[in-house]
Amino acid sequence: MLKKLFQSFRPPARQVHHQRSTPEVLNSGAHGLQRHQFSRHAVSIVERLQQAGYQAYLVGGCVRDLLLNLPPKDFDVATSATPEQIRAEFRNARIIGRRFRLVHIQFGREIIEVATFRANHPEDDATTSRHSSRNESGLILRDNVYGSLEEDAQRRDFTINALYYDPVSDRILDYANGVHDVRNRLVRLIGEPRQRYQEDPVRMLRAVRFAAKLDFGIERHTVQPIREMATLLQGIPGARLFEEVLKLFLSGQAADTFEMLVDLNLFEQMFPASAQALEDTPSYTHTLIRNALVNTDLRVQEGKPVTPAFLFAALLWPALPARALALQGRGLPPIPAMQEAAHELIAEQCQFIAIPKRFTLPIKEIWDMQERLPRRNGKRADVLLDNPRFRAGYDFLLLRESAGEQTDGLGQWWTDYQDATDSERRAMIRDLGNRDEASPSAGPARKKRRNNSRRKGDSFAE
Ligand code: ATP
Ligand code: MG
Repeated sequence: MLKKLFQSFRPPARQVHHQRSTPEVLNSGAHGLQRHQFSRHAVSIVERLQQAGYQAYLVGGCVRDLLLNLPPKDFDVATSATPEQIRAEFRNARIIGRRFRLVHIQFGREIIEVATFRANHPEDDATTSRHSSRNESGLILRDNVYGSLEEDAQRRDFTINALYYDPVSDRILDYANGVHDVRNRLVRLIGEPRQRYQEDPVRMLRAVRFAAKLDFGIERHTVQPIREMATLLQGIPGARLFEEVLKLFLSGQAADTFEMLVDLNLFEQMFPASAQALEDTPSYTHTLIRNALVNTDLRVQEGKPVTPAFLFAALLWPALPARALALQGRGLPPIPAMQEAAHELIAEQCQFIAIPKRFTLPIKEIWDMQERLPRRNGKRADVLLDNPRFRAGYDFLLLRESAGEQTDGLGQWWTDYQDATDSERRAMIRDLGNRDEASPSAGPARKKRRNNSRRKGDSFAE
């Protein structure tokens, strides 16, 4: 991983290397792309805009991914036409966005994003201040200054994302030596890295995302400032970070992504409590999170749904015990302490990453389920099995066991129970009775205390 991260196949780039005003032009045949590989709708939008007298290209991830023989996630168009001019050309177009004004053109289920060429920010230019603004630290707050094609290329984040494909002439325009970096498998920022991170710290996360997703290295000058600039993520609104975190962990390469984020100090900026747990109980925390992410990656690769709640439940779980213990130290009984710890932990996490309510509730339910799964007497097991959260709770139990938590074979018991016939199930419940499993009168609090040293207590200690 580290080798991959810091690999650099070439001598340090000269300053002028990735900033040029005339593009390298790759003619048909020199690039290996074919127009039929692109979305038919996106190509027709480009043709239509060009016929109307505008410049228009396919740009960004789709050109990059096709050069790598990967299926593009979506198809983006860049044009000299303004949003209003674009809308005038297409009936099915809508202007969206505030930070970036974009046009969405809809064809059935496919949406093509069309963006007007933008310029990078001239720092103190009064004529642009109405449309673009930065705060004192250089962060871009709004970004709607239109520009030329050349300027549009320079304001993009990475060289591999600044490739423009013209399906009409079948040519690629390359202003930043992006084709070279695609071939050498390197993520390289355009321009001066520190300045580019200052403008938009999320680019640090994007560097990691593309490196993991494409299995690229991060070029030396691009990776070098990240560790010390990671704190800039604190200035990013929680809602944007939530979106980015989902992209990071649903990319199909979440396990690698996680290692890189930790290594580059980015993880601790977004998940401070989990980062603390990584220090306090390194091997347990690392194993649990890693196993959760490896599972997530498998599901993504198999095209199965992944719920963000499960992901966040796993990322935060190792931070719970320390908090619950602290609350117990202040006199709360174990179960309320656990619930209060969960509540506090989620509230605290939401100050960094705005996890929407529709996910925070299921996170708590998955955690609650961990308290309930050991209590199986009487009708409880069957009631639990019918609980809509059972599956997630059971999967989570197996995850905890995979990280070494001692649960007295609880996961196996539930695996067997699900496969068992009715009479076998009754027998399994009868067997529990002999073990004096939590009877109603025992109450959760007493049971927890009794089990603490034997179960959770052991497992959370390193
Ligand atoms: P993906 O496969 O994830 O969609 P993508 O490269 O298309 O990858 P998007 O987030 O869809 O990424 O952005 C589209 C393009 O917009 C990028 O290729 C890049 O050129 C530009 N871009 C996006 N975010 C930024 C940013 N924060 N700073 C500069 N340029 C950006
Ligand atoms: Mg894209």
